[in-house]
Amino acid sequence: MENDEPRGANDDGWYQDPPRRAPVAGRGPLAYHAGAMTVHVFAHEACLGHEMTPGHPERPARLTAIREELADPGVAAGLVWHQAPEASRAELERVHPAFYVDHIRDLSAAGGGVLDPDTSTNSRSWAAALRAAGAGVRAVAAALDGEGNAFLAVRPPGHHALASHAMGFCLFNNVVVAARAALARDDVERVLIVDWDVHHGNGTQALVERDPAIRFVSLHQWPLYPGTGRAGERGVGNVWNVPRPPGLAPGSYVRDLLAAVGEATSGWRPQLILISAGFDAMRGDPLAGFTLEAGHYLELSQRLREFGVPLVAMLEGGYDLANLRAGVRTTVEAFG
Ligand SMILES: [Zn+2]
Repeated sequence: MENDEPRGANDDGWYQDPPRRAPVAGRGPLAYHAGAMTVHVFAHEACLGHEMTPGHPERPARLTAIREELADPGVAAGLVWHQAPEASRAELERVHPAFYVDHIRDLSAAGGGVLDPDTSTNSRSWAAALRAAGAGVRAVAAALDGEGNAFLAVRPPGHHALASHAMGFCLFNNVVVAARAALARDDVERVLIVDWDVHHGNGTQALVERDPAIRFVSLHQWPLYPGTGRAGERGVGNVWNVPRPPGLAPGSYVRDLLAAVGEATSGWRPQLILISAGFDAMRGDPLAGFTLEAGHYLELSQRLREFGVPLVAMLEGGYDLANLRAGVRTTVEAFG
């Protein structure tokens, strides 16, 4: 974790590391099958500064709730917190054209503005968006270097963002920026993206659907925003969409997502698994009608861990704060 900014620098303790566990003998960089291991959590105070319209569900309190939950002694000891770095221009421009990056920067510098009916910025959105995207780049590098799985408690989210269009609360496509950073390494040729947010990751699909080095699996409610994600949308054979109606038994969503992951990885072993980890598929979310409970993220995470490759999960949606706390905690616990 070279180049990390100093930890514990904030008065409010965002980055105060919890007590470290003693090292476990014999645990090396390839020990992803091993028992409990450190989970890295990336966050940044700047991600609290981005706000859209009053009352918008994608709000700073989401991150505050996650921080509080992960500070609980029952989970905190297995975590190491890191300040998310800013993504560089080069890292962003692997995914987004320069004019679009400039537009987000300039709009924020001018005090913010409306980008889409659901998506706007304020003067602090640029700083937040750079940290949200940079978190993924850094977490992927660390995970691929054997330092452990990671969860990114950042916002704005990313999976609806297209190359040159913000939409659905998303400015930069954080998960694709991270995937591109991974594939820029000499030692990575296959990246799996699993999107368990209740909405289709239309931006992610659009950005990867012509690249067989990335396979994309998305479970989402249908019909629902953004209106893409039909099962017949297959990209170059690298896209698996699992559209489902609301109100089904939660186990059926889990089963069908894992079946699609199984198809996507048949004869194709990923070297890295990125998760667009929304928690708006949980029962009671104000924006959707799926029925997952926190325990289902344990099952999903454990099954993805069985691949024995690094896992990096990035926060997407999830708008009921109690659900968000429970879902994130369960996921992080399963990662360690
Ligand atoms: Zn969502």
